[in-house]
Amino acid sequence: MPDIPVWNKCDNKCLMCANTAGFSANTSRDYSLARQAARLELHLRGRAAYRKNARVPGAWNLTGGEPTLNPDFLKAVAYFRRRLPGETLTLLSNGRRFADPAFAAAFSAAARPPFRLAVSLHGHTAALHDKVTGVKGSFAQTLAGLRNIMAAGSPELELRVILHRLNYRSLGRILSLVKRTCPGRRVVVMHYEHEGRGARNAALLDVSLAATAAAVNACARSLKGFGEAALYHFPLCLLAPGLRPLAAVSLPPEDRVYPAACSACRSRQSCPGLMRQYARLHGRSGVKPI
Ligand code: SF4
Repeated sequence: MPDIPVWNKCDNKCLMCANTAGFSANTSRDYSLARQAARLELHLRGRAAYRKNARVPGAWNLTGGEPTLNPDFLKAVAYFRRRLPGETLTLLSNGRRFADPAFAAAFSAAARPPFRLAVSLHGHTAALHDKVTGVKGSFAQTLAGLRNIMAAGSPELELRVILHRLNYRSLGRILSLVKRTCPGRRVVVMHYEHEGRGARNAALLDVSLAATAAAVNACARSLKGFGEAALYHFPLCLLAPGLRPLAAVSLPPEDRVYPAACSACRSRQSCPGLMRQYARLHGRSGVKPI
């Protein structure tokens, strides 16, 4: 789905952030409402600079940095909602600004359906979450933000858990926290991407897909207890058969590879395969045709 970058700075410094590659080069980019509106019009007209992203018509990601830090954020949400009626907008956020109840209420009023807010939780404790974000107090703010959004009643909420070496053993406890804090909401569990800061911190974060998939498999019962759950970046053959229907292909073809063994696999068409950057680091072994 096309990405609409809303802001290029963030108040978290997440160790695994994949969106930091172009930050330094883009610090002077204009993110005013007028410029964002102009970019969207370019996108809608299918201009070359945006065409590569236009794979899934009718679904858009509002990304950053942290989009809520843009001084024009609320106006931008209202503008995108008006300009893209009926199309699904997903805001990717660390959730911290919604700790302000007035801000959460104003956002909720502007984010009319179909609209989804996707917030990442990195741990089940302040110690773990704040270690990953690099910001003391971020866990408490994110949880307060989630509670305020739920109290406001909209938009739809999605909780994301990005697994790496620092937190994959805690997946069960993180899912329990998600269930307690945001009952009935959608959850997405994914292996981290070797991009941006995530690539630079590989020595600290790296873990095999076999290990994170095993952690996911151990949580099968918990995952099935969510109203909706999805798994990103896991080859189907590493997942327990009962979890394979939750696996989604979320990366474009150029970012995925299929080892030679996959040519004998009946699930090749629906499988995410291996992330290209992961395969560069780990090689292409470990998959088993099903
Ligand atoms: S063998 Fe290849 S195509 Fe089949 S499930 Fe595993 S990674 Fe996917």
